[in-house]
Amino acid sequence: MKILVVEDEVPLLESLSSFIRQEGHTCEISSGYLDASQKIDLYNYDLLILDVGLPDGNGLDLIPQLKSRCPETGVLILSAKSSMDDKVAGLDSGADDYLGKPFHLAELNARIRAIYRRRFFSGREKLEFGNIELRLSEKIALVNNEPIELTRKEFELLEFFLTNPNRVLSKESIAEHLWGDAIDSSDSFDFVYSHIKNIRKKICEKGGIDCIKTIYGLGYKYLVE
Ligand code: CA
Repeated sequence: MKILVVEDEVPLLESLSSFIRQEGHTCEISSGYLDASQKIDLYNYDLLILDVGLPDGNGLDLIPQLKSRCPETGVLILSAKSSMDDKVAGLDSGADDYLGKPFHLAELNARIRAIYRRRFFSGREKLEFGNIELRLSEKIALVNNEPIELTRKEFELLEFFLTNPNRVLSKESIAEHLWGDAIDSSDSFDFVYSHIKNIRKKICEKGGIDCIKTIYGLGYKYLVE
């Protein structure tokens, strides 16, 4: 995808753009409202990642301008975690999704992938690695072409791993992905552990290979060759 990131915190802008490029997307950057406004008038993007609080304007005001010219462009809003008003206003004005700061890059990646699937595959994309296949819109997981029974959270967790292959996912980022910002972390880590244990067991029962590696002290990684 071709993505425009609009963010006035330069270190964050730089880390987002280098991450997005590593993921294989084209990434353009803008650090202010007026600059972004000119860019969206001149160029086409598949996705706009938009900070709300810009020094020279409110990022949300760019959405109608964007949508009038390129209604198919996806919008992901970045805003302070506490700002429920931004979330509601953003989704009302046509944004696809909202991510509260601070966030984990793996979570950003999951949101980008979800928007990508909706835009380009009508939500029907499959994720396939080795003998594991996830049918994302149907929420079905198959091992060696046989369905396995996963709970909703187990499915979401496996999907999170498969959208972030070979990347260490911390227990915190997994817990936030599954339960959102409000989750109490110490309890949720036990849940993460038991979900992973169950997924491993169910994959192995069908003769699949357990690719979830525990990275001691850091989290987990889904290994893909
Ligand atoms: Ca800002």
